[in-house]
Amino acid sequence: MQKREKILLVEDSRLTAMIVAEFLNKNGYETETAVTGEDAVQKISGGFPPDLVLMDIELPGEMDGIDAARRILKSRDIPIVFLTANTSREILEKIKAVKGYGFVVKGTDKYALLSTVEMALKLHEANTHARMFERLFENSLNELYIFHPKSLKFVAVNRAARKNLGYTIEELNTMTPLDLKPEFDMESFQKLLNPLFSGEQEQVLFKTVHRRKDGTLYPVEINVQLFDYGGEKSCLALVVDLTERRAMEEELQEKEGTLSVILGSARDAIVMLDGQGNVTFWNPAAEQLFGYSREEIMGKELHRLLVPDEHLYEVHIQAFQRFQLNREGNAIGKTMELKAKHKDGRELDVELSLSALRIMDALHAVGIVRDVSERKRLEEENRRREERFRLMLEGIPSPAWLVSRERRILAQNKAAASLFGTKIGDYCWEGIHGGEYLPDEYREALKKTGSPLPGTKCYFCHGDEVLDRNEPINSEVELAGNIWDTWWIPLGEDVYLHYATDVTRYKKIEEELRHLSVTDVLTNAYNRRYFTQQLEEEIERAKRADRKFSLIMLDIDRFKSINDRFGHNAGDLVLKSIAELIKNRIRKIDTLARWGGEEFVILLPDTTVKNAARLAEELRESLSQMDIPGVGHVTASCGVAGYCPGDTVDTLVNKADNMMYEAKAAGRNCVRYMNECE
Ligand code: GH3
Ligand code: MG
Ligand code: MG
Repeated sequence: MQKREKILLVEDSRLTAMIVAEFLNKNGYETETAVTGEDAVQKISGGFPPDLVLMDIELPGEMDGIDAARRILKSRDIPIVFLTANTSREILEKIKAVKGYGFVVKGTDKYALLSTVEMALKLHEANTHARMFERLFENSLNELYIFHPKSLKFVAVNRAARKNLGYTIEELNTMTPLDLKPEFDMESFQKLLNPLFSGEQEQVLFKTVHRRKDGTLYPVEINVQLFDYGGEKSCLALVVDLTERRAMEEELQEKEGTLSVILGSARDAIVMLDGQGNVTFWNPAAEQLFGYSREEIMGKELHRLLVPDEHLYEVHIQAFQRFQLNREGNAIGKTMELKAKHKDGRELDVELSLSALRIMDALHAVGIVRDVSERKRLEEENRRREERFRLMLEGIPSPAWLVSRERRILAQNKAAASLFGTKIGDYCWEGIHGGEYLPDEYREALKKTGSPLPGTKCYFCHGDEVLDRNEPINSEVELAGNIWDTWWIPLGEDVYLHYATDVTRYKKIEEELRHLSVTDVLTNAYNRRYFTQQLEEEIERAKRADRKFSLIMLDIDRFKSINDRFGHNAGDLVLKSIAELIKNRIRKIDTLARWGGEEFVILLPDTTVKNAARLAEELRESLSQMDIPGVGHVTASCGVAGYCPGDTVDTLVNKADNMMYEAKAAGRNCVRYMNECE
């Protein structure tokens, strides 16, 4: 049932009030009565205000009807119809001054009253709507414009539009849409709106730009419609500022662009499957890896194409179904290695990491797949190379290490571990000698800080040289009294093989052999071969540097008779004693050798003949005074000669020999020498 409208009747005459109320009630209104202005104001400020007030003008009390109406309208928007007994000019002026809805003269036709009331209610309702639309128009967040279809003059522009444009209402009153739309002139704008005027279209939608008062532009989308306004057609334009939308679109596009660049340039294959296991995304790396182009594989069932055999296919399908059911499975969130099949039938080793993605309520699987065939091959190759190195190291009977350029031990053999206690990962010098053979500055730094300076290496190390030259180096290294035959052999750019053989024993033998080869066993003086060699070298030196040197030839007198008288052993003792005596007297740079049976020869570098003769005389003297056990005293004869330009080993030895014979001829136990060169 429709709600009955309520009318407050303000009338001091009870009779009139009763008659009017009865009439209104009969015609479907609810009524309430007030007798004074104050009473009316009181009732209206209460809980249920009436829809209309019928107000008598002449009222008892402080307020007349006009005053009461003013008070009511201050706080409420209620239509008020005045009742008046007379229509004097004064009364009519008063009524006009109040925003009323007309008046009715008392006692006239009741139906005139009824129709005035109805009209007042309708008019009020219309006003309310109009105000509401006005408010909607003004407060709309979209820009709204009303303009005249012919002159295009703005009739109204709402606040959102004014705010964005920067114009005041007054400024806009003299403007048209053309002032805002630099892309249009009168002709083109009219042409655009024509379908509206011809009735062909109810609205015209277009995009353009608006220019603000400050000259800046912004993109807009405009919807223009015709509507009746004040008895004629008007245009209503709804304008949406697209700036933000554009910015969002651009941002989105940028993001999409970035994403597609990433997906396109990713080196890993990126594949997406829908719930049925059909391919929905396939990037260029996937094309490359599996051999299928995007066009070929989109929408196809992935597992059918890529899984190498039927059994595996079943396993995969089951796993995929499990994944679909509960979004999890063995593969989710993990990286796993598996086999896949290339389009050409080749088997591939791949690494897969799988994740789930919900797009519009459907579960998709995203797989990132990497070809690990090459990595596997390298791993295998590395393993084999390491095995080869291991075999090589173990094949070396001496301690052997693989060492990096930084001097870290990468590998070693058992001999190295047991003999030196070195450990893999240590610096090579750590185990071998604990830093003892480091150059001073490195050893000091190590002692102070406890950690080695960069580039620390033993002073005998050739690691850097062999790596830079890419050639092996071999040298002998003395370590703690032992001699090591040491090799550095480059293996590529940063690793070398280092091994050392203890050759101390061989070195001793070698030394002994050398000693034996140059000495006379009986007297321990040098032998003739060695002496000749030394003499040759001395002659060369003398030639080059114009240096002097001399020879003494010494022969024991009547040695045969010593042998005869005291025996061969005594003779040997004499030889040894004489050699000992001479060795003790001569300088380090002099060389004593046994020339023949009982003949000795002495090479004296940097010595004149005179000085050599003096030495010979001294030797002869002390020899003659020496008492040899079991033999007694022996004597010797000496010949002395100096080097002269042109002398050879033979001529020089001959000269000394001749001088020695002269001494023999002169009666023995004396010295004879050849004067300076002629
Ligand atoms: P002269 O004063 O003229 O030199 O008389 P000599 O006896 O010393 O000279 P000769 O050349 O006649 O004799 C040399 C002797 O030296 C002959 C040989 O038996 C002896 N003799 C040579 N080598 C050795 C040796 O290694 N040991 C011993 N015990 N005797 C040797
Ligand atoms: Mg002799
Ligand atoms: Mg002799």
